[in-house]
Amino acid sequence: MSSQKNEVVIGLEVHIQLTNLKTKLFCSCSNNYRGAEPNSYVCPICIGLPGSLPAINKKAIEFATRLAIALNGNINESIYFFRKNYFYPDMSKNFQISQYNKAGGKAFADGGQITIKLNSHKKDIILNRIHLEEDPARLVHKGSIATSPYTLVDYNRSGVCLIEIVTEPVISSPEEAREFLKQLKSIVQYSEISNLDYEGSVRVDANISIRGHERSEVKNINSFREVERALRHEIVRQKNLLKRGKLLAQETRHWDDKRRITISLRTKEFEADYRYFPEQDLVPIEIDDEFIQKVKDELPEMPRERSIRLRRDYNLSEFDSDNLVLDKDIADFYEDGVNSDASFGPDEYKQFCNWLMNDVSRWLNEQNKTINDTKLHPHQIVDLIKYINEGKITTKIAKTIIKDMMEGFSISEILEKKGKKRISDEKLLNKFGNEVIEENPNIVKDCRKNPKAIEALIGRVMAKTRGQADPHITRAIMLELLKELGIIT
Ligand SMILES: [Zn+2]
Repeated sequence: MSSQKNEVVIGLEVHIQLTNLKTKLFCSCSNNYRGAEPNSYVCPICIGLPGSLPAINKKAIEFATRLAIALNGNINESIYFFRKNYFYPDMSKNFQISQYNKAGGKAFADGGQITIKLNSHKKDIILNRIHLEEDPARLVHKGSIATSPYTLVDYNRSGVCLIEIVTEPVISSPEEAREFLKQLKSIVQYSEISNLDYEGSVRVDANISIRGHERSEVKNINSFREVERALRHEIVRQKNLLKRGKLLAQETRHWDDKRRITISLRTKEFEADYRYFPEQDLVPIEIDDEFIQKVKDELPEMPRERSIRLRRDYNLSEFDSDNLVLDKDIADFYEDGVNSDASFGPDEYKQFCNWLMNDVSRWLNEQNKTINDTKLHPHQIVDLIKYINEGKITTKIAKTIIKDMMEGFSISEILEKKGKKRISDEKLLNKFGNEVIEENPNIVKDCRKNPKAIEALIGRVMAKTRGQADPHITRAIMLELLKELGIIT
Protein backbone atom coordinates (compact mmCIF):
# COMPACT_ATOMS: atom_id res chain seq x y z
CA MET A 1 0.00 0.00 0.00
CA SER A 2 1.31 3.42 -0.86
CA SER A 3 1.12 5.86 1.99
CA GLN A 4 -1.85 8.18 1.80
CA LYS A 5 0.20 11.29 2.39
CA ASN A 6 2.26 10.80 -0.76
CA GLU A 7 -0.66 10.13 -3.08
CA VAL A 8 -0.34 12.14 -6.28
CA VAL A 9 -3.46 13.66 -7.86
CA ILE A 10 -3.31 14.94 -11.44
CA GLY A 11 -5.95 16.44 -13.70
CA LEU A 12 -5.20 17.53 -17.26
CA GLU A 13 -6.64 20.21 -19.54
CA VAL A 14 -5.60 19.40 -23.07
CA HIS A 15 -6.04 22.04 -25.79
CA ILE A 16 -6.00 20.70 -29.31
CA GLN A 17 -6.15 22.74 -32.50
CA LEU A 18 -8.50 21.27 -35.07
CA THR A 19 -5.87 21.57 -37.79
CA ASN A 20 -7.98 19.72 -40.38
CA LEU A 21 -10.51 22.58 -40.50
CA LYS A 22 -10.17 24.88 -43.50
CA THR A 23 -11.29 28.07 -41.74
CA LYS A 24 -11.17 29.57 -38.24
CA LEU A 25 -13.90 29.07 -35.62
CA PHE A 26 -15.87 32.29 -36.19
CA CYS A 27 -14.67 33.74 -39.53
CA SER A 28 -13.62 32.59 -42.99
CA CYS A 29 -9.88 33.25 -42.57
CA SER A 30 -7.63 30.27 -43.29
CA ASN A 31 -7.10 27.98 -40.32
CA ASN A 32 -3.72 26.89 -41.65
CA TYR A 33 -1.51 29.75 -40.49
CA ARG A 34 1.73 27.78 -40.35
CA GLY A 35 4.46 29.25 -42.54
CA ALA A 36 2.32 32.25 -43.54
CA GLU A 37 3.48 35.86 -43.48
CA PRO A 38 2.67 37.23 -39.95
CA ASN A 39 -0.69 39.01 -39.66
CA SER A 40 -1.75 38.10 -43.21
CA TYR A 41 -4.63 35.73 -42.27
CA VAL A 42 -6.75 38.23 -40.39
CA CYS A 43 -10.09 39.97 -40.76
CA PRO A 44 -12.23 42.33 -38.62
CA ILE A 45 -13.79 39.35 -36.81
CA CYS A 46 -10.64 37.52 -35.68
CA ILE A 47 -8.90 40.71 -34.58
CA GLY A 48 -12.11 41.84 -32.88
CA LEU A 49 -12.79 45.19 -34.56
CA PRO A 50 -15.88 46.96 -33.17
CA GLY A 51 -19.04 46.07 -35.06
CA SER A 52 -17.77 42.79 -36.49
CA LEU A 53 -19.97 39.76 -35.90
CA PRO A 54 -18.74 36.18 -35.44
CA ALA A 55 -20.52 33.23 -37.11
CA ILE A 56 -19.94 29.63 -36.06
CA ASN A 57 -18.00 27.27 -38.33
CA LYS A 58 -20.38 24.30 -38.86
CA LYS A 59 -17.55 21.93 -39.62
CA ALA A 60 -16.07 22.70 -36.19
CA ILE A 61 -19.34 21.56 -34.60
CA GLU A 62 -19.16 18.36 -36.65
CA PHE A 63 -15.53 17.74 -35.65
CA ALA A 64 -16.33 18.33 -31.96
CA THR A 65 -19.26 15.91 -32.29
CA ARG A 66 -16.96 13.28 -33.79
CA LEU A 67 -14.51 13.60 -30.93
CA ALA A 68 -17.27 13.60 -28.30
CA ILE A 69 -18.69 10.37 -29.76
CA ALA A 70 -15.24 8.78 -29.97
CA LEU A 71 -14.60 9.68 -26.31
CA ASN A 72 -18.01 8.45 -25.23
CA GLY A 73 -19.16 11.84 -23.94
CA ASN A 74 -22.74 13.11 -23.63
CA ILE A 75 -23.29 15.88 -26.17
CA ASN A 76 -25.45 18.70 -24.86
CA GLU A 77 -28.39 19.43 -27.13
CA SER A 78 -28.26 23.19 -26.77
CA ILE A 79 -25.06 25.12 -26.26
CA TYR A 80 -24.04 28.73 -26.34
CA PHE A 81 -20.76 30.53 -26.06
CA PHE A 82 -19.44 32.73 -23.28
CA ARG A 83 -16.99 35.60 -23.18
CA LYS A 84 -13.98 34.93 -20.97
CA ASN A 85 -12.65 38.38 -20.17
CA TYR A 86 -8.97 39.11 -19.76
CA PHE A 87 -6.53 41.76 -20.83
CA TYR A 88 -3.46 40.56 -22.69
CA PRO A 89 -1.86 41.44 -26.06
CA ASP A 90 -2.61 37.96 -27.48
CA MET A 91 -6.35 38.75 -27.33
CA SER A 92 -7.08 42.01 -29.12
CA LYS A 93 -10.77 42.20 -28.18
CA ASN A 94 -9.94 41.60 -24.48
CA PHE A 95 -12.09 38.50 -24.27
CA GLN A 96 -11.90 34.98 -25.59
CA ILE A 97 -15.02 33.30 -26.96
CA SER A 98 -15.21 30.04 -25.06
CA GLN A 99 -17.72 27.75 -23.38
CA TYR A 100 -18.62 27.74 -19.70
CA ASN A 101 -20.40 24.98 -17.85
CA LYS A 102 -21.83 27.18 -15.08
CA ALA A 103 -24.28 30.10 -14.82
CA GLY A 104 -26.68 28.30 -17.16
CA GLY A 105 -23.96 27.50 -19.66
CA LYS A 106 -23.01 24.04 -20.82
CA ALA A 107 -19.89 22.39 -22.14
CA PHE A 108 -20.01 20.88 -25.62
CA ALA A 109 -20.12 17.43 -24.05
CA ASP A 110 -19.98 16.15 -20.49
CA GLY A 111 -18.24 13.02 -19.28
CA GLY A 112 -16.59 10.36 -21.42
CA GLN A 113 -13.48 8.32 -20.83
CA ILE A 114 -10.31 6.88 -22.25
CA THR A 115 -9.12 3.46 -21.17
CA ILE A 116 -5.40 3.18 -20.64
CA LYS A 117 -3.25 0.16 -20.08
CA LEU A 118 -0.15 0.37 -17.92
CA ASN A 119 1.88 -2.68 -16.87
CA SER A 120 -1.06 -4.79 -18.13
CA HIS A 121 -3.46 -2.99 -15.73
CA LYS A 122 -6.46 -1.30 -17.29
CA LYS A 123 -7.81 1.98 -15.95
CA ASP A 124 -10.54 4.32 -17.16
CA ILE A 125 -9.49 7.95 -17.14
CA ILE A 126 -12.81 9.73 -16.68
CA LEU A 127 -13.34 13.01 -18.49
CA ASN A 128 -15.15 15.97 -17.00
CA ARG A 129 -16.02 17.71 -20.27
CA ILE A 130 -14.91 18.86 -23.69
CA HIS A 131 -15.53 22.31 -25.09
CA LEU A 132 -14.79 24.56 -28.04
CA GLU A 133 -12.98 27.89 -27.90
CA GLU A 134 -10.87 30.20 -30.02
CA ASP A 135 -7.09 30.26 -29.94
CA PRO A 136 -5.42 33.55 -28.98
CA ALA A 137 -2.75 35.18 -31.14
CA ARG A 138 0.85 34.04 -31.01
CA LEU A 139 3.38 36.08 -29.07
CA VAL A 140 6.83 35.91 -30.60
CA HIS A 141 9.85 36.67 -28.45
CA LYS A 142 13.37 37.30 -29.59
CA GLY A 143 15.33 34.57 -27.84
CA SER A 144 13.82 33.58 -24.50
CA ILE A 145 10.75 35.10 -22.87
CA ALA A 146 12.88 36.35 -19.95
CA THR A 147 15.58 38.15 -21.94
CA SER A 148 13.75 39.29 -25.08
CA PRO A 149 13.91 43.11 -25.47
CA TYR A 150 10.49 43.15 -27.19
CA THR A 151 7.47 41.02 -28.03
CA LEU A 152 5.83 40.67 -31.45
CA VAL A 153 2.22 39.59 -31.98
CA ASP A 154 1.07 37.45 -34.88
CA TYR A 155 -2.72 37.42 -35.14
CA ASN A 156 -2.81 34.66 -37.78
CA ARG A 157 -3.50 32.20 -34.96
CA SER A 158 -6.17 34.39 -33.40
CA GLY A 159 -9.55 32.66 -33.79
CA VAL A 160 -8.18 29.24 -34.81
CA CYS A 161 -10.45 26.51 -33.44
CA LEU A 162 -9.37 24.77 -30.23
CA ILE A 163 -11.06 21.89 -28.50
CA GLU A 164 -10.34 21.45 -24.81
CA ILE A 165 -10.49 18.07 -23.13
CA VAL A 166 -10.67 18.23 -19.33
CA THR A 167 -10.10 15.11 -17.23
CA GLU A 168 -11.33 14.51 -13.72
CA PRO A 169 -8.45 14.56 -11.20
CA VAL A 170 -8.06 10.79 -11.46
CA ILE A 171 -4.57 10.46 -12.90
CA SER A 172 -2.14 9.08 -10.33
CA SER A 173 1.27 9.29 -11.99
CA PRO A 174 3.23 10.87 -14.86
CA GLU A 175 3.22 7.47 -16.59
CA GLU A 176 -0.58 7.34 -16.53
CA ALA A 177 -0.67 10.86 -17.98
CA ARG A 178 1.67 9.74 -20.75
CA GLU A 179 -0.51 6.73 -21.62
CA PHE A 180 -3.65 8.87 -21.55
CA LEU A 181 -2.15 11.40 -23.99
CA LYS A 182 -0.92 8.60 -26.25
CA GLN A 183 -4.44 7.18 -26.52
CA LEU A 184 -5.98 10.63 -26.93
CA LYS A 185 -3.58 11.45 -29.76
CA SER A 186 -4.49 8.19 -31.45
CA ILE A 187 -8.25 8.82 -31.17
CA VAL A 188 -7.83 12.36 -32.55
CA GLN A 189 -5.85 10.98 -35.49
CA TYR A 190 -8.46 8.31 -36.26
CA SER A 191 -11.25 10.92 -35.98
CA GLU A 192 -9.47 12.85 -38.78
CA ILE A 193 -9.95 16.18 -37.04
CA SER A 194 -6.34 17.18 -36.44
CA ASN A 195 -2.71 16.38 -37.02
CA LEU A 196 -1.09 16.63 -33.60
CA ASP A 197 2.39 16.26 -35.05
CA TYR A 198 2.15 19.89 -36.17
CA GLU A 199 4.25 22.23 -34.07
CA GLY A 200 2.07 24.14 -31.61
CA SER A 201 -1.05 22.05 -32.23
CA VAL A 202 -1.29 20.94 -28.58
CA ARG A 203 -0.98 22.73 -25.25
CA VAL A 204 -1.52 21.10 -21.90
CA ASP A 205 -2.24 22.61 -18.49
CA ALA A 206 -1.79 20.22 -15.58
CA ASN A 207 -3.24 20.47 -12.07
CA ILE A 208 -0.99 18.64 -9.65
CA SER A 209 -1.23 18.08 -5.93
CA ILE A 210 -0.24 15.74 -3.16
CA ARG A 211 -3.53 14.63 -1.61
CA GLY A 212 -4.58 16.87 1.25
CA HIS A 213 -2.51 19.86 0.08
CA GLU A 214 -3.01 22.86 -2.21
CA ARG A 215 -2.57 22.22 -5.91
CA SER A 216 -0.52 24.05 -8.48
CA GLU A 217 -1.43 24.50 -12.11
CA VAL A 218 1.42 24.13 -14.59
CA LYS A 219 0.50 26.09 -17.71
CA ASN A 220 1.32 25.83 -21.36
CA ILE A 221 3.23 22.62 -21.66
CA ASN A 222 3.78 22.67 -25.40
CA SER A 223 4.01 19.03 -26.35
CA PHE A 224 2.71 15.71 -25.09
CA ARG A 225 6.30 14.58 -24.62
CA GLU A 226 7.00 17.42 -22.19
CA VAL A 227 3.99 16.62 -19.98
CA GLU A 228 5.56 13.60 -18.33
CA ARG A 229 8.75 15.57 -17.61
CA ALA A 230 6.89 18.59 -16.22
CA LEU A 231 4.79 16.36 -13.96
CA ARG A 232 7.82 14.51 -12.64
CA HIS A 233 9.56 17.76 -11.82
CA GLU A 234 6.53 19.31 -10.13
CA ILE A 235 5.82 16.23 -7.99
CA VAL A 236 9.40 16.15 -6.70
CA ARG A 237 9.28 19.90 -5.99
CA GLN A 238 6.07 19.61 -3.98
CA LYS A 239 7.23 16.55 -2.04
CA ASN A 240 10.52 18.23 -1.16
CA LEU A 241 8.72 21.29 0.21
CA LEU A 242 6.45 19.11 2.32
CA LYS A 243 9.43 17.15 3.62
CA ARG A 244 10.93 20.41 4.87
CA GLY A 245 7.67 21.25 6.63
CA LYS A 246 6.69 24.02 4.17
CA LEU A 247 3.13 24.80 3.12
CA LEU A 248 2.21 24.52 -0.56
CA ALA A 249 0.55 27.53 -2.17
CA GLN A 250 -2.22 27.40 -4.72
CA GLU A 251 -0.47 28.97 -7.68
CA THR A 252 0.03 29.02 -11.41
CA ARG A 253 3.42 27.88 -12.64
CA HIS A 254 5.13 27.94 -16.01
CA TRP A 255 7.00 24.96 -17.48
CA ASP A 256 10.39 26.07 -18.79
CA ASP A 257 11.21 23.28 -21.23
CA LYS A 258 14.79 24.43 -21.76
CA ARG A 259 15.74 24.41 -18.09
CA ARG A 260 13.20 21.65 -17.33
CA ILE A 261 11.82 23.31 -14.22
CA THR A 262 8.53 24.96 -13.26
CA ILE A 263 8.56 28.64 -12.28
CA SER A 264 5.94 30.45 -10.22
CA LEU A 265 4.01 32.93 -12.40
CA ARG A 266 1.37 34.24 -10.04
CA THR A 267 -0.91 33.07 -7.31
CA LYS A 268 -3.78 31.28 -8.93
CA GLU A 269 -6.46 33.47 -10.50
CA PHE A 270 -10.03 32.47 -9.75
CA GLU A 271 -12.90 32.01 -12.13
CA ALA A 272 -14.57 35.21 -10.93
CA ASP A 273 -11.58 37.12 -12.30
CA TYR A 274 -12.69 36.22 -15.83
CA ARG A 275 -16.19 37.71 -15.44
CA TYR A 276 -17.76 35.11 -17.73
CA PHE A 277 -20.95 36.19 -19.45
CA PRO A 278 -22.91 34.89 -22.43
CA GLU A 279 -21.72 35.89 -25.91
CA GLN A 280 -24.77 37.74 -27.25
CA ASP A 281 -23.39 37.99 -30.79
CA LEU A 282 -23.83 34.24 -31.35
CA VAL A 283 -27.13 32.38 -31.34
CA PRO A 284 -27.46 29.18 -29.27
CA ILE A 285 -26.58 26.05 -31.23
CA GLU A 286 -29.02 23.14 -31.23
CA ILE A 287 -27.53 19.70 -31.79
CA ASP A 288 -30.25 17.14 -32.46
CA ASP A 289 -30.16 13.34 -32.35
CA GLU A 290 -30.42 13.08 -36.10
CA PHE A 291 -27.21 15.09 -36.55
CA ILE A 292 -25.41 13.05 -33.89
CA GLN A 293 -26.55 9.79 -35.51
CA LYS A 294 -25.33 10.95 -38.93
CA VAL A 295 -21.89 11.83 -37.54
CA LYS A 296 -21.81 8.49 -35.70
CA ASP A 297 -22.63 6.58 -38.90
CA GLU A 298 -19.81 8.34 -40.73
CA LEU A 299 -17.26 8.00 -37.95
CA PRO A 300 -14.13 6.18 -39.18
CA GLU A 301 -13.03 2.96 -37.46
CA MET A 302 -11.51 3.80 -34.06
CA PRO A 303 -8.23 2.33 -32.73
CA ARG A 304 -9.91 0.04 -30.23
CA GLU A 305 -12.15 -1.60 -32.85
CA ARG A 306 -9.25 -1.82 -35.25
CA SER A 307 -7.13 -3.61 -32.67
CA ILE A 308 -9.84 -6.25 -32.19
CA ARG A 309 -10.14 -6.67 -35.95
CA LEU A 310 -6.36 -7.01 -36.46
CA ARG A 311 -6.23 -9.70 -33.80
CA ARG A 312 -8.92 -11.61 -35.64
CA ASP A 313 -7.75 -11.03 -39.23
CA TYR A 314 -4.00 -11.46 -38.74
CA ASN A 315 -3.80 -13.68 -35.70
CA LEU A 316 -1.89 -11.02 -33.72
CA SER A 317 -1.59 -10.92 -29.94
CA GLU A 318 -3.41 -8.22 -27.98
CA PHE A 319 -0.08 -6.59 -27.17
CA ASP A 320 0.99 -6.48 -30.84
CA SER A 321 -2.32 -5.24 -32.21
CA ASP A 322 -2.71 -2.55 -29.50
CA ASN A 323 0.74 -1.19 -30.33
CA LEU A 324 0.24 -1.45 -34.05
CA VAL A 325 -3.01 0.55 -34.15
CA LEU A 326 -1.75 3.40 -31.98
CA ASP A 327 -0.48 5.32 -35.03
CA LYS A 328 -3.07 5.08 -37.82
CA ASP A 329 -0.44 5.59 -40.54
CA ILE A 330 1.62 2.67 -39.20
CA ALA A 331 -1.48 0.46 -39.03
CA ASP A 332 -2.45 1.46 -42.61
CA PHE A 333 1.10 0.68 -43.72
CA TYR A 334 0.87 -2.72 -42.05
CA GLU A 335 -2.40 -3.69 -43.67
CA ASP A 336 -1.27 -2.45 -47.11
CA GLY A 337 1.84 -4.60 -46.76
CA VAL A 338 0.47 -7.88 -45.52
CA ASN A 339 -2.45 -7.75 -47.96
CA SER A 340 -0.23 -7.11 -50.96
CA ASP A 341 1.18 -10.63 -51.03
CA ALA A 342 -1.14 -13.60 -51.31
CA SER A 343 1.52 -16.00 -50.00
CA PHE A 344 1.56 -14.30 -46.58
CA GLY A 345 0.11 -16.18 -43.61
CA PRO A 346 0.20 -15.92 -39.80
CA ASP A 347 4.01 -16.32 -39.58
CA GLU A 348 4.61 -13.48 -42.02
CA TYR A 349 1.90 -11.33 -40.38
CA LYS A 350 3.82 -11.61 -37.13
CA GLN A 351 7.18 -10.97 -38.83
CA PHE A 352 5.85 -7.86 -40.58
CA CYS A 353 4.50 -6.56 -37.27
CA ASN A 354 7.85 -7.16 -35.56
CA TRP A 355 9.84 -5.30 -38.20
CA LEU A 356 7.47 -2.38 -38.03
CA MET A 357 7.22 -2.17 -34.24
CA ASN A 358 10.92 -2.76 -33.57
CA ASP A 359 13.46 -1.65 -36.15
CA VAL A 360 11.28 0.75 -38.14
CA SER A 361 9.64 2.39 -35.10
CA ARG A 362 12.94 2.74 -33.29
CA TRP A 363 14.45 4.48 -36.29
CA LEU A 364 11.45 6.81 -36.61
CA ASN A 365 11.66 7.69 -32.90
CA GLU A 366 15.36 8.42 -33.10
CA GLN A 367 14.85 10.65 -36.14
CA ASN A 368 11.66 12.19 -34.73
CA LYS A 369 9.86 11.30 -37.96
CA THR A 370 6.58 9.68 -38.93
CA ILE A 371 6.26 6.79 -41.37
CA ASN A 372 4.91 9.19 -44.01
CA ASP A 373 8.07 11.30 -43.76
CA THR A 374 10.04 8.38 -45.19
CA LYS A 375 10.06 6.88 -48.67
CA LEU A 376 9.55 3.41 -47.23
CA HIS A 377 6.91 1.45 -49.12
CA PRO A 378 5.06 -1.52 -47.55
CA HIS A 379 6.24 -3.73 -50.39
CA GLN A 380 9.86 -3.26 -49.33
CA ILE A 381 9.13 -4.92 -45.98
CA VAL A 382 7.35 -7.72 -47.86
CA ASP A 383 10.50 -8.21 -49.96
CA LEU A 384 12.70 -8.08 -46.87
CA ILE A 385 10.72 -10.84 -45.19
CA LYS A 386 10.82 -12.98 -48.32
CA TYR A 387 14.59 -12.53 -48.68
CA ILE A 388 15.05 -13.66 -45.08
CA ASN A 389 12.68 -16.62 -45.32
CA GLU A 390 14.24 -17.79 -48.58
CA GLY A 391 17.66 -17.67 -46.94
CA LYS A 392 18.97 -14.97 -49.29
CA ILE A 393 19.96 -12.70 -46.41
CA THR A 394 20.37 -13.16 -42.70
CA THR A 395 18.25 -11.30 -40.15
CA LYS A 396 21.43 -9.56 -39.06
CA ILE A 397 22.02 -8.14 -42.54
CA ALA A 398 18.35 -7.25 -42.83
CA LYS A 399 18.70 -5.08 -39.73
CA THR A 400 21.58 -3.17 -41.26
CA ILE A 401 19.74 -2.33 -44.47
CA ILE A 402 16.62 -0.87 -42.83
CA LYS A 403 18.03 2.68 -42.89
CA ASP A 404 18.64 2.56 -46.64
CA MET A 405 15.17 1.16 -47.17
CA MET A 406 13.77 4.24 -45.37
CA GLU A 407 15.37 6.30 -48.14
CA GLY A 408 13.40 4.32 -50.71
CA PHE A 409 16.07 1.89 -51.96
CA SER A 410 15.04 -1.65 -52.83
CA ILE A 411 16.81 -4.58 -51.20
CA SER A 412 18.51 -5.69 -54.39
CA GLU A 413 19.87 -2.16 -54.91
CA ILE A 414 21.15 -2.01 -51.34
CA LEU A 415 22.79 -5.43 -51.49
CA GLU A 416 24.48 -4.58 -54.76
CA LYS A 417 25.78 -1.29 -53.38
CA LYS A 418 27.08 -2.84 -50.19
CA GLY A 419 28.34 -6.02 -51.77
CA LYS A 420 26.58 -7.80 -48.95
CA LYS A 421 25.46 -10.82 -50.93
CA ARG A 422 25.06 -13.98 -48.95
CA ILE A 423 27.87 -16.51 -49.04
CA SER A 424 26.39 -19.79 -50.22
CA ASP A 425 29.60 -21.44 -51.44
CA GLU A 426 29.51 -24.75 -49.55
CA LYS A 427 33.25 -25.36 -49.81
CA LEU A 428 34.01 -22.01 -48.25
CA LEU A 429 31.39 -22.44 -45.51
CA ASN A 430 32.75 -25.93 -44.82
CA LYS A 431 36.20 -24.43 -44.28
CA PHE A 432 34.83 -21.81 -41.85
CA GLY A 433 32.77 -24.50 -40.08
CA ASN A 434 35.82 -26.65 -39.47
CA GLU A 435 37.77 -23.66 -38.16
CA VAL A 436 34.98 -22.80 -35.73
CA ILE A 437 34.83 -26.40 -34.43
CA GLU A 438 38.57 -26.43 -33.86
CA GLU A 439 38.56 -23.07 -32.10
CA ASN A 440 35.61 -23.79 -29.77
CA PRO A 441 36.02 -27.25 -28.18
CA ASN A 442 33.86 -26.31 -25.19
CA ILE A 443 30.85 -25.34 -27.30
CA VAL A 444 31.28 -28.52 -29.33
CA LYS A 445 31.23 -30.52 -26.08
CA ASP A 446 28.03 -28.71 -25.03
CA CYS A 447 26.34 -29.84 -28.25
CA ARG A 448 26.31 -33.41 -26.92
CA LYS A 449 23.87 -32.50 -24.14
CA ASN A 450 22.24 -29.36 -25.48
CA PRO A 451 21.12 -29.32 -29.12
CA LYS A 452 20.66 -25.54 -28.92
CA ALA A 453 24.39 -25.03 -28.48
CA ILE A 454 24.72 -25.38 -32.25
CA GLU A 455 23.36 -21.83 -32.51
CA ALA A 456 26.55 -20.56 -30.86
CA LEU A 457 28.65 -22.34 -33.50
CA ILE A 458 26.53 -20.95 -36.35
CA GLY A 459 26.96 -17.53 -34.76
CA ARG A 460 30.75 -17.93 -34.88
CA VAL A 461 30.59 -18.74 -38.61
CA MET A 462 28.41 -15.65 -39.10
CA ALA A 463 30.96 -13.55 -37.25
CA LYS A 464 33.78 -14.87 -39.43
CA THR A 465 31.84 -13.94 -42.58
CA ARG A 466 30.66 -10.61 -41.14
CA GLY A 467 27.08 -11.83 -41.26
CA GLN A 468 27.14 -12.89 -44.88
CA ALA A 469 27.00 -16.68 -44.53
CA ASP A 470 23.74 -18.18 -45.75
CA PRO A 471 22.05 -19.24 -42.50
CA HIS A 472 20.28 -22.29 -43.93
CA ILE A 473 23.35 -23.73 -45.64
CA THR A 474 25.54 -22.95 -42.63
CA ARG A 475 23.17 -24.80 -40.33
CA ALA A 476 23.09 -27.83 -42.61
CA ILE A 477 26.88 -27.88 -42.81
CA MET A 478 27.35 -27.57 -39.04
CA LEU A 479 24.88 -30.42 -38.45
CA GLU A 480 26.79 -32.54 -40.94
CA LEU A 481 30.19 -31.77 -39.39
CA LEU A 482 28.97 -32.54 -35.86
CA LYS A 483 27.47 -35.82 -37.07
CA GLU A 484 30.76 -36.76 -38.70
CA LEU A 485 32.49 -36.15 -35.36
CA GLY A 486 29.93 -38.31 -33.60
CA ILE A 487 28.84 -35.38 -31.38
CA ILE A 488 25.20 -35.65 -32.44
CA THR A 489 23.23 -38.39 -34.08
ZN1 LIG B 1 -10.69 36.24 -39.62
